[in-house]
Amino acid sequence: MQRKELYIDGAWIAPQGDGTIEVVNPTTEQVIGSVPAGSSDDVNLAVAAAKRAFPEWANSSIETRMAALNDLSLALKELTEELAQTITAEVGTPIGYSRMAMVGTPRVVARSYAKMLESYEWEHEIRNSVIVKEPVGVCAFITPWNFPLHQIVGKVAPALAAGCTMVLKPSKEAPLNAFLLADILHDIGLPPGVFNLVSGHGSEVGEFLSGHPDVDMVSFTGSTGAGIRVSQAAAPTVKRVTLELGGKSANVILDDADIIRAAKSSIGACYQNSGQTCSALTRLIIPVAHKEEILELVKQRVDGYTPGNPLDENTRCGPMVSSKQQASVHNYIQSAIDEGATLIAGGTEMPDGIETGFFVRPTAFADVTPDMTIWKEEVFGPVLTITTYQSEEEALSLANDSIYGLSGGVWSGDTERAMEFAKGMRTGQVSINGGPFNVSAPFGGYKQSGNGRELGVEGLDEFLEIKAIQRPIE
Ligand code: NAD
Repeated sequence: MQRKELYIDGAWIAPQGDGTIEVVNPTTEQVIGSVPAGSSDDVNLAVAAAKRAFPEWANSSIETRMAALNDLSLALKELTEELAQTITAEVGTPIGYSRMAMVGTPRVVARSYAKMLESYEWEHEIRNSVIVKEPVGVCAFITPWNFPLHQIVGKVAPALAAGCTMVLKPSKEAPLNAFLLADILHDIGLPPGVFNLVSGHGSEVGEFLSGHPDVDMVSFTGSTGAGIRVSQAAAPTVKRVTLELGGKSANVILDDADIIRAAKSSIGACYQNSGQTCSALTRLIIPVAHKEEILELVKQRVDGYTPGNPLDENTRCGPMVSSKQQASVHNYIQSAIDEGATLIAGGTEMPDGIETGFFVRPTAFADVTPDMTIWKEEVFGPVLTITTYQSEEEALSLANDSIYGLSGGVWSGDTERAMEFAKGMRTGQVSINGGPFNVSAPFGGYKQSGNGRELGVEGLDEFLEIKAIQRPIE
């Protein structure tokens, strides 16, 4: 897919510069497409278009916004196969997962915001004041590659619902799905300038957008390092910044849990999307009394998690998104070996029978201690660490021993006990006994995992200013 134009002010137009970004299929290592490498001139045009479009969209009727969101959801449904194939080609996600999570989730998210608008309270009164909620203005969206369309729609849908206009800079590894989304938003008849797309490099387009004086809010999803730079660029103009960043989430098995179920499920919770998931439960924390049993279960399960061609309907583990990501994950595996963790599955060799593609063997380590790099840093690959504890108090302390706080899990035979433990975890989400992801629940981080929330009502509130209008007291 060769895309040579940017989507600005309701039309596909030639970029101001002539740079391009090549997109590589991580399974075949072949170039499969390219998009423009936009420039600050392109950003200026896109922001100006979004600024011009803002007054009309901010005053659009709720019915108009609901129709746009429902049309978006319907179009995502109709184009599921094309979008899923594109994301599998860009990211390497197994095709079934692409259809279900990469496209299915954004479809539901768009619909959920249309539904939310049916009953959302835009105004309320307190004594002599009327409190009104108004769209924040022009938004800049900077997104990563790992769940590319979900992360974009998780910003676009609530922003449309709120009455904001926007400029999107998708990741350079997986930008093609964003171009298909722009086609969809054009076809559903969104007014010119409400949505604009400028592809490009983070250090150029992303940073320029973050500092642009006519951008009122930046919503960023990506690494903590880039999030810090976005915040710094946004600070001089005091714009609102929301950050969805990295994680190193704990999954705690309490001693009264269904050990077999908990141990088996811990693999999927870590290796989903080949471990390239910000909310992956990568630190498994287990009672020392059950160590041997759990290690045996984990080992068997990892060995069954064979990587393969993501277009094969049976594959559950695709490649890493890029050779850079593959090398980074291999370095982390090597660091864990060097620092004394016990390798119980996987390693740094290519998986059996695979010669091409940025694959990593699903890997698990036992005897991981809090001083090790693999305990502290986000790997973003299929690497599980296992650590034992003696007491519940120690388990909680280990779970909270991280600069991150994005997600978490706890397993217990007693739901109340699990609930109490979950409340003690300093993290934005916790799954009890494998409780599934909920698109209507707020998602976001404590500590260095970010600021702000996406999804649910809280995700809509991020895009709104609050005004208090005082009436005279008679
Ligand atoms: P990344 O930080 O390298 O890139 C994310 C986006 O930021 C890209 O569009 C990139 O071009 C842009 N960018 C990079 N440097 C920038 C700068 N200086 N200024 C402005 N923009 C810049 O992250 P990635 O490798 O694409 O994604 C992986 C990371 O994202 C992981 O750390 C993961 O945990 C995190 N992530 C977090 C969530 C969440 O919701 N919390 C979701 C998905 C991914």
